[in-house]
Order: sequence, then C-alpha cells, then structure tokens
Amino acid sequence: MDRELFAIFGNPVAHSRSPLMHNYTFQTLDYPACYGRYRLEEGERLREVFLKLGLKGANITVPHKEHAYRACDELDDFARKVGAVNTIVLRDGKLHGYNTDAPGFLRVVEEFGGGKRVLFLGAGGTAASTAMILREAGYEVTILNRSAGRLESFKEQGFAAYTWEEFAPGAYDLIVNMSSAGLEDESLPAPREILEPLLRRASGALDVIYGKETPFLRLARSLGVRSKDGSEMLLYQGVIAFDYFTEGHFDLEKIEKAMRESFFLD
Ligand code: NDP
Repeated sequence: MDRELFAIFGNPVAHSRSPLMHNYTFQTLDYPACYGRYRLEEGERLREVFLKLGLKGANITVPHKEHAYRACDELDDFARKVGAVNTIVLRDGKLHGYNTDAPGFLRVVEEFGGGKRVLFLGAGGTAASTAMILREAGYEVTILNRSAGRLESFKEQGFAAYTWEEFAPGAYDLIVNMSSAGLEDESLPAPREILEPLLRRASGALDVIYGKETPFLRLARSLGVRSKDGSEMLLYQGVIAFDYFTEGHFDLEKIEKAMRESFFLD
C-alpha cells in the first residue's frame, strides 16, 4: 500500500500534539501513513489545500472547524447538526466530515463525574458541538461568553446563554473552560470575580486546553477544586479520528493504547 498522507489544519497549529499522536500510532500499528501540520490562514482555502496536498484525511483545529464543515461533500448526522467538523476523510473523491471532539469530550465528562449541571466558559465551535452532545446525554448546559454574537445560536437551540454582564450565577457542578483564553495568552476565560465563587461551589473544573497549566486551571487548583486539562479530550477525539482515517481497520483499544503511549514521549 502507498503511504497515506494526513495533516492537521489550524492557526495557530505549532502547539498541536496531533502529528505526534497519529504518527506514533501509525508506526506502532504498522500502518503506512504520515501526518503533518499546516498553518492555514484563510479557512476558505481548506478544500483546495487538502486536495493539492494529496491527503487521505485531516484534522481541523481553531479557527477553521466551521470552514471545514462547509468544505465537505458529505457529513455525518452529528457534524451536520452542530455545523462543525474536526475530522475529514477522502473517499471516492469526496470529502466526508465528522466531529470527534464532542464524543471525546462526553467521555471525559462521564469519567470525571461530579454532577449534571455544567457551565461552559466560551461559545465557539467546540462549545457548540459539546453542549449538544452533553444535552443529549442528560446534562444541563449553561453558556457564559465574553461577547454576545456567538450566543444567539445557543439561545435559538434552547440553551441558557449569557454574556458576563447579563450573568446571574446559579449553582453548577462542573465549570469548563471551553474558550481559547489561556491558549496563547495568560487570560482567564471570565473575570476572576465571577469565576472564584463559581469554582468554590463546584465539584470540578475542566479545561479543554492541553499541554500547559492555564490561568483557569491554576485558579481552580489554588482553590482546591478537582481539575483536569484537555489531554484526555485530545486523546479520545484522536482515537475516534484515527478509526475514521484507517476505515475501522483496528480495534479501538489498540488505537487508544498506542496513542496513550505517545503522551509519554516528551
Ligand atoms: P473558537 O475560536 O470557535 O471560539 C473561541 C471562544 O473563546 C469564543 O467563545 C471566544 O469568545 C472565547 N475567547 C477567546 N479568547 C478569550 C479570552 N481572552 N477571554 C474570554 N473568552 C475568550 O474556538 P474553538 O471553540 O474551536 O476552541 C476553543 C478551545 O478548545 C481552544 O482553546 C482549543 O484549543 C480547544 N480544543 C481542545 C480540544 C482537545 O482535544 N483538547 C479539541 C477542540 C478544541 P468571543 O465569542 O467573545 O470571541
């Protein structure tokens, strides 16, 4: 078999662990493929670049998941519903789009436990897909965001969704940083005066950012709140993506075992 090519598209993309995870797993499972990274400035060019590079598949990260959704010819039911794609596979000349972030995050929340009332800080593409899947699994999700624009679609779908100014805090079991605050900077995803009392009453805090201790995680830990970064979400979404990339060729347990090992490479 010729070596298949895969890549992750994003901007920024240098921080991504996906190339390491997927290359290590291809190598360990003896699958002839190679996975690179591509910093894409204009999301509209995603389809053109994907095809020019001769890729079999790709992952898509911030800020191009909505562009990826529009670039696909076929969408699975869940990706269609949430309007965000993070995994593309080329089959018979057509781009097939999936969302593996949401099932990956659901698994993290289920394993973390602690209650069903969840507050998301952030209202981007990842928040949209994960809010939907959590609700389908019986969680009650509230959205808190810096600005109003992105909240409209959440409200239309019946979520309680507020800007910082509008927010009247309730009680939440789990507080989740679903934003990119802390990814490239040292900002909190909401003002400290809002976050501290929420965290003190919560049973846990999750961050979707991985590979660093964000100001949000630091605050949660300083208050003694049980917390976890985004590494496992990354792992679980990666396992599902790998399964699509290799067309169901391997047991999921085998993929997960190899991919988990890649986290100990550096
Ligand atoms: P988007 O660009 O779609 O959305 C970004 C969101 O973050 C918006 O709600 C935005 O608010 C908010 N935001 C950005 N900067 C700040 C700030 N300084 N203070 C407060 N809010 C801020 O991003 P995505 O939804 O695609 O991704 C969100 C995060 O999830 C990223 O950090 C990404 O790395 C992470 N992620 C992790 C995964 C994993 O496997 N661990 C998988 C997928 C995503 P506003 O609307 O006001 O601009």
